[in-house]
Amino acid sequence: MIDKYEIYKSSGISKEVFEFGEAVLEDLKEDFDHYDMMAEYNQQKVIRAMQKNKVSAECLAGSTGYGYNDLGRDTLEAVYADTFKAEDALVRPQITCGTHALALALMSNLRPGDELLSPVGAPYDTLHEVIGIRPSMGSLAEYGITYAQADLKPDGSFDYDAIKNAINERTKLVTIQRSKGYAGRPSYSVEEIGELIAFIRGIKPEVTIMVDNCYGEFVQEREPLEVGADMIVGSLIKNPGGGLAPTGGYIAGKKECIENAARRLSSPGLGKEVGASLGIMPSFYEGFFMAPTVVASAIKTAAFAAAIYERLGYKCIPRAKEKRNDIIQAVELKTPEALQAFCLGIQKGAPVDSHVTPVPWDMPGYDDQVIMAAGAFVQGSSIELSADGPLRAPYNVYFQGGLTWYHGKFGILCSLEEMVRAGEVSLSS
Ligand SMILES: *Cc1c(COP(=O)(O)O)cnc(C)c1O
Repeated sequence: MIDKYEIYKSSGISKEVFEFGEAVLEDLKEDFDHYDMMAEYNQQKVIRAMQKNKVSAECLAGSTGYGYNDLGRDTLEAVYADTFKAEDALVRPQITCGTHALALALMSNLRPGDELLSPVGAPYDTLHEVIGIRPSMGSLAEYGITYAQADLKPDGSFDYDAIKNAINERTKLVTIQRSKGYAGRPSYSVEEIGELIAFIRGIKPEVTIMVDNCYGEFVQEREPLEVGADMIVGSLIKNPGGGLAPTGGYIAGKKECIENAARRLSSPGLGKEVGASLGIMPSFYEGFFMAPTVVASAIKTAAFAAAIYERLGYKCIPRAKEKRNDIIQAVELKTPEALQAFCLGIQKGAPVDSHVTPVPWDMPGYDDQVIMAAGAFVQGSSIELSADGPLRAPYNVYFQGGLTWYHGKFGILCSLEEMVRAGEVSLSS
């Protein structure tokens, strides 16, 4: 029989931190059963899509040059489409990240004179330059595409009156962000997004509705296309890449939306027919196959951390036992020292770069210094355990990921160890 503490003792975890963690876990058993059930459900969804589309050894081979007749690429796109209940999908290594995928979906589906509407307040930071909220070379604004925004109510709920007032004859595309990102508002469930879509369609049925699906894939049974969205967009170094995809992004949805995006990514006349997959297909397929269980690991890690820090009196968003709509966890750490100690712990627990010390730095595009902890196999991958936060009150740390629950657990125990060492928390009550 293994003495469970022995597992962690030689990794520098003190007995009091270990025991605190075990006590917290006792309370999470039912929640973990639920996350496992979600993984089980979504795993079958992916397997069924792979079998239906006859994924074969040839699909893993890859192409070069123009990439004509790339069976692996085309079949993978069909697998994504079936899993997410889309008519079609674009899943490419040439889409470099989530921001690129979102910019591509917007720029290809809007035309000069159209207006873009965000009914959920300001979109994710990196989209500000894409839209031209912050003036930027090549933005939608430079092409004569305007932007309107309906802010949320103070409690984070939709302001239906403001949304109604913001919709006009030029409103062409509506963008809804599922995950809170770095904002203080809640992340929305697929059901909530469905209600918002129904309201918007009641006013303007023909409008194109896009959902920024980053961090949301496989968290629930359904995806936003099943409640009326036209397009969902995401990054392969987040949930759907399963930690194995080394780069890439996807757009899934209505055929016409995907065709627009494909023609913008390559060229009119070429569309989806070109784009070599090189040697990347095995990681895309295997990553998508792994994604449901990896997402469950990340959610368990987030819930474990929330339960620990809630018990220590910190405000956690979402709360430990709250229903989760994405893999992001925020903890209000209150002091810059606590934020740095937390990040140091996450870094120390990483499989890669565990020997480096994260320090706050002036990141382009941010007003405050930012500290980041990441010891990832894939650069910037946030389905791997990672944490960051701006050095400003209330010193929120945002973290996400965990390829395996056991690594996630270890990382969170390391963060607690560093918090104790820094004198930020005391476990002897
Ligand atoms: C991560 C993220 C993005 C941008 O993705 P990158 O891959 O970092 O460019 C956009 N929206 C949301 C909600 C995100 O979480």
